[in-house]
Amino acid sequence: MELERHEYDVIVVGAGGAGLRAAIAAHESGARTAVVCKSLLGKAHTVMAEGGIAAAMANAYPEDNWRVHFRDTMRGGKMLNHWRMAQLHAQEAPDRVRELEDWGALFDRTPDGLISQRDFGGHRYARLAHVGDRTGLELIRTLQQRTVALGIDVYMECTVTRLLTGENGVTGAFGYWRESGRFVAWSAPSVVLATGGIGKSYKVTSNSWEYTGDGHSLALQAGATLVNMEFVQFHPTGMVWPPSVRGILVTESVRGDGGILKNSAGNRFMFDYIPDFFRKETAETEAEADRWYDDKKNNRRPPELLPRDEVARAINSEVKAGRGTPHGGVYLDIASRRSAEYIRKRLPSMYHQFKELAEVDITAEAMEVGPTCHYVMGGVEVDPDTEAARVPGLFAAGEVAGGMHGSNRLGGNSLSDLLVFGRRAGLAAAEHARSRPGPAPLPDDDLADAARAALAPFEREGGENPYAVQHDLQQTMHDLVGIIRTAPEMEQALERIAALRERVGNLSVEGHRQYNPGWHLALDLPHMLLVSECIARAALERQESRGGHTRDDFPATNDEWSRTNLICSRASDGTVALSRQPLPTMPAELAEVFEEVPA
Ligand code: FAD
Repeated sequence: MELERHEYDVIVVGAGGAGLRAAIAAHESGARTAVVCKSLLGKAHTVMAEGGIAAAMANAYPEDNWRVHFRDTMRGGKMLNHWRMAQLHAQEAPDRVRELEDWGALFDRTPDGLISQRDFGGHRYARLAHVGDRTGLELIRTLQQRTVALGIDVYMECTVTRLLTGENGVTGAFGYWRESGRFVAWSAPSVVLATGGIGKSYKVTSNSWEYTGDGHSLALQAGATLVNMEFVQFHPTGMVWPPSVRGILVTESVRGDGGILKNSAGNRFMFDYIPDFFRKETAETEAEADRWYDDKKNNRRPPELLPRDEVARAINSEVKAGRGTPHGGVYLDIASRRSAEYIRKRLPSMYHQFKELAEVDITAEAMEVGPTCHYVMGGVEVDPDTEAARVPGLFAAGEVAGGMHGSNRLGGNSLSDLLVFGRRAGLAAAEHARSRPGPAPLPDDDLADAARAALAPFEREGGENPYAVQHDLQQTMHDLVGIIRTAPEMEQALERIAALRERVGNLSVEGHRQYNPGWHLALDLPHMLLVSECIARAALERQESRGGHTRDDFPATNDEWSRTNLICSRASDGTVALSRQPLPTMPAELAEVFEEVPA
């Protein structure tokens, strides 16, 4: 078999914020490091992030500090977050932002020259460091420049299809060049997964083509575990029109900067959906909500800035009740509330996005928006300090990792998560590699098996078309495991997933290995299917509603489930096995934070 081989200490799979930050940390601690990514360097999904990086830097509000950020994150995640991850994240995020600035990132400034911080849902104080609505681009630009300047090897347009393991854990990874279809193997005692999310398993999503859940699936197949896969975030505001762009994100900054949600009758409906849990900190009247933008000390936040799960459910209910827009969304109106100049300055990308894609001028008319699959809170179960998965030598950081965000992520907390835990994963991966000197063995049989599996779709004639199977999977997840869930629907989803598994086992593609998108999809589909099965099984098991998991048949939160994580592992017959695990206990001194901070 023709195979290109390389040897490193640390392989990082993924060149988004988490992967690049991990690679920089591993390299700086002396490990021979390489990054492998499906798309071109600089094109990872992180580049799409708009609103900002959450960090309690106290530039806008001196009262802000890590304890308030920790509390907001835990409350936003409905207390299911791993407390230690939420603590490290809140404590370390400000240093990671300042470090980014030292490396050349140009943030928007306050009038007195500090990094400007904006409001976002669920954050008590304005704390999102940002660059207009193009923060992800600046983050990636900065990390990419540093990666290149440090001389870290990058394998781009290269897809990892399998993790290689031996008796002592990870030994490397196997993949193919997308352009030539040729195979490549990396031997390394440490692999960091930083592959992002799973959104492409759903029909309507804000996620890019790369989000096929590869890392989740590769980890599971290598013997690692996934935690709380039922929690999928539906962002409340995706574009609903025209159909070709349905799902594309409308940043939360529109609401942070004054935009309000209205139904077809013109009512500002979010006041009807304030849950008791957030009532004390949410404005009771439109007048109070409007005053908050200018005087945050003496007024409470508008209900449009409740955490995403609350807003998405409210929009869903309005549309279901027949009070939606002509294209099945609700109105997001900033035009009647801010000047055209302000909108164009604060939200330049949104202005162009609507102008070019929907022919809507958001400085003059309201946008039509609705929920879109946006983020997965569930992911690889990791040690909070080192990001080590259950397989020795395997680490995970960023969206592919679980635990940090509990049942619902607050906006802005992902970019900070990437920096904090990307760095920690890189350091720990380098440390692990130091404990395993010498090249990691890659048995020929394993490499031949990985190559055979990758080429199988070419061997079958008259099998299933990957695009048809992808369509049916996305429809199944959209219809049956979406924003509102019931047991009979999820049971039906699992039946359909079982049938889709047969079809995925019978995929066939035509043509050759040079840049063949049908083949690439055929290799992505098993990952998408496995991840979908994890989501559906976990969602059926968790008989309560919490964060990004809403059960019509169990509408309340449940005490027993508030203490329980759901763990997915791979059973010996290849199916997904579920087990329950108690939540780690928060130390008393941290639990005090919830008493001391004014609600
Ligand atoms: P990514 O940036 O997605 O990188 C994944 C990498 O893995 C890519 O390089 C990809 O090529 C590679 N990869 C995947 N599979 C393979 C494979 N099999 N082989 C090789 N390489 C592979 N969060 C915030 O905090 N603030 C925001 O303002 C914000 N705005 C957002 C706006 C949009 C439109 C979206 C969709 C999300 C937003 N988010 C935001 C969420 C945030 O952007 C993501 O969660 C985050 O960027 C994920 O980063 P990551 O490093 O984990 O993965």
